[in-house]
Amino acid sequence: MDQGVLLVCHVDGDELSSFSNPSFTVHHCTSLPTSAVSASACLLARSNRNDMFQKTRDARMQAPTTFVIFYHQDATEDALLREEAFECGANMVTCYVPHVQEALNRVAAQQLQGNITCPWCGLQGLTPESFYLHQPLYHIYHANIDGYCPIKACRASTSNLARHLHHTHPPPGQKVEERTGH
Ligand SMILES: [Zn+2]
Ligand SMILES: [Zn+2]
Repeated sequence: MDQGVLLVCHVDGDELSSFSNPSFTVHHCTSLPTSAVSASACLLARSNRNDMFQKTRDARMQAPTTFVIFYHQDATEDALLREEAFECGANMVTCYVPHVQEALNRVAAQQLQGNITCPWCGLQGLTPESFYLHQPLYHIYHANIDGYCPIKACRASTSNLARHLHHTHPPPGQKVEERTGH
């Protein structure tokens, strides 16, 4: 992926005021600009959760394929906060800067020279390998979908595309990890 744009939306003087990541051109702001549409990732942080929920919805509406990170000090403790943030369209809810950096590095490492369009968010250009990595990174908390596998060589019909992808299309050399539910 070309160097993407990262919008960091926070209040003045908070811990993210000097946040940067070498894979992104970083723009700091206190309110979401309408140009959020061109960002490949948004990092939202404010203490007021309702304001953050609204900003998450706005970012999701303006930019369906952007990776929205909801950064809040109660991310670990408050299950309802997490649930609502994901319902508003967040891809990740966290209160740890190292986790933010790791996720952003994975977003930036996505190969977009393929011909697969993500059925969840519409991100185009995924290869079978990058789709395999993209799906859980972006959509592990989003509703499952059914239909046809978007990998052209496959096109299998499935009632659970996330599971199908995980079981049928691991990248070469990667063993399928068994999910037992325990
Ligand atoms: Zn997607
Ligand atoms: Zn398939």
